[in-house]
Amino acid sequence: MTAPLTIAIDGPAASGKGTISRRVAAHYGLRHLDTGLLYRGVAALVRERGVDAQDAEAVGAIAAGMNEAVLARSDLRDGGIGNIASVVASHPPVRAALLQWQRDFAQGGAVLDGRDIGTVVLPDASAKLFVTADADVRAARRWRELSKTEDISYRRVLDDIEERDRRDSGRSTAPMSHAADADLLDTSEMTIEDAVTEALRLIESRLG
Ligand code: C5P
Repeated sequence: MTAPLTIAIDGPAASGKGTISRRVAAHYGLRHLDTGLLYRGVAALVRERGVDAQDAEAVGAIAAGMNEAVLARSDLRDGGIGNIASVVASHPPVRAALLQWQRDFAQGGAVLDGRDIGTVVLPDASAKLFVTADADVRAARRWRELSKTEDISYRRVLDDIEERDRRDSGRSTAPMSHAADADLLDTSEMTIEDAVTEALRLIESRLG
């Protein structure tokens, strides 16, 4: 029996990993899970219920009781939610509650994108990418998106991205990191089309 095709795509905010993941999934006919949405879902519930985002136990209980319907909420991409998500994502009980959910999704083959997919969630993935870009390039991309609907400055977006990078790579449980067997894809000077083409080339050569 051949193992199902699983592809792990990690990287910081606005690196291009979301678009790349969707396109890679379509290319191979696989399902795709944006795992950031799980943490954003927990963050949205925390904000709505007035729970302290620093309270690991209370937030862990919210994560354990969360169902899939939360992922369809329209507010998960709001500017403020990303930062709360990165606080709740630092709590071990939250990560533990969401781990099996992600592994179950990958049964039978899938593309998962996040921060710890290649290192923790799917260490045996068929192919792994770590997608990154310079912080100022990522902030400009995110600002272009957010400023369509929110009154937000570029400086504020850059500060948020840098703060989130620090928190995501500095936490002790499942920090964002480049798995030793992941291919690095720096999209700073690439169009999204070039980045998708390069991602598929790297994955093909791993699967080769
Ligand atoms: O990818 P996205 O920006 O939507 O993720 C929101 C936050 O969720 C990240 O800043 C990170 O703290 C957390 N996250 C994580 N592990 C993942 C995916 C996201 O810790 N696999």
